[in-house]
Amino acid sequence: MEKPSLVKPIDIFLIIITGGLWLIVVLIKMLKPKKQFDRTSKTTDTDLVEVSYVGACCSTCGKYRGRIFSVNGKDGRFPKLPDDFHEDCGLMLFPFVYGVQEPQYCKTKDIISYNNRPFRDTRTAEEKANYKLILQEQEDERQRQQDKFDYDWLLKHLPEICPKSFSSYRRMKNSNSAGYKKVIAAAKEAGYIIK
Ligand SMILES: [Zn+2]
Repeated sequence: MEKPSLVKPIDIFLIIITGGLWLIVVLIKMLKPKKQFDRTSKTTDTDLVEVSYVGACCSTCGKYRGRIFSVNGKDGRFPKLPDDFHEDCGLMLFPFVYGVQEPQYCKTKDIISYNNRPFRDTRTAEEKANYKLILQEQEDERQRQQDKFDYDWLLKHLPEICPKSFSSYRRMKNSNSAGYKKVIAAAKEAGYIIK
């Protein structure tokens, strides 16, 4: 009995068609101009976005949180999304359809006049303090990573003077002890600067 062929001509035809379609999709995606905030146009036709609300944020986000903007300025009832808007502090943009949707963050009767009010940092003293704390934590972590990097360098290049553990290295660094000064001087001699 003849064995049935594993690949039929129809299979080859389907593979070519699928591959072709896939190529077209990839090309369309590549050629499509990127918008600053794609999310709006993908889901709805609205140019409006609602900005979420976070407590501990910078002074810029303190002006923009919980407000509604027109991304490209097409809807004159709302202010245009400012160029310095950023998402670094955790604010997010959600598409908003005026007259259809209830605002999630902008809880007021007259949302048009509310959103056209002057831009002022609305953070409370507590929110400002919390934001400072977050910045300090980030800076501490950055410094810890730098210290680890320096410690690993010492361990590799100057093992004879490198402290036994990373925590003892950090302790000597924080107290700026004579031993620490010796270590940074030796590292400098070897061409490595510890700050
Ligand atoms: Zn911010």
